[in-house]
Amino acid sequence: MKGEIVKKKVKTIKVNLDKCNGCRACEMACSAFHAEPKYSSINPARSRIRVVSDPLNDEYVPIRATDYTKAGCDGRRVYTINGKEYSECSFCGTICPTRNLFKDPDSGLPLKCDLCNNDPPLDEPMCVQVCSLDALTYEETEEEEIEELKLDDMEIGLKSLIDKYGLQKLADSFNRISQKG
Ligand code: SF4
Ligand code: SF4
Repeated sequence: MKGEIVKKKVKTIKVNLDKCNGCRACEMACSAFHAEPKYSSINPARSRIRVVSDPLNDEYVPIRATDYTKAGCDGRRVYTINGKEYSECSFCGTICPTRNLFKDPDSGLPLKCDLCNNDPPLDEPMCVQVCSLDALTYEETEEEEIEELKLDDMEIGLKSLIDKYGLQKLADSFNRISQKG
């Protein structure tokens, strides 16, 4: 069914690499918030955000875990930053079978960033709250989305008749009925 493009306001985490100093407070806060019970332990290996670090070049890149995929990509591209080479996988947030990143160290289950889903909702996700340098900020952006058209009861009935008999046959029937008055 066709839909229409609508603009929606969504909040997302923005990353400013110029401000990150690699303190890894975000990793600790994330793992503590998702511990069972909450805040009972800190273990960056269980964090849904990891900071790729190159202290010699003062380069730090926080990466958040995105979706789980059953198959890895070819990951053949190489990025050079300040003379240091990084594989494509270094900055990828996908939870994939080719590496252990963003997987629970005990169960192997994927650890996807859920934006600190909580009841009641947090004002800001934990990693943003603890990032004292504002390398992570929680901001509203506008995104385009395809919204499916919602049909009322009569339209649903008509659609099922069109699916069954075809539009032309239905139009002919309407014509005949209207001529009979
Ligand atoms: S808390 Fe902020 S500054 Fe520290 S590593 Fe994370 S993103 Fe970088
Ligand atoms: S938003 Fe929450 S779940 Fe996602 S990386 Fe930050 S602290 Fe972890």
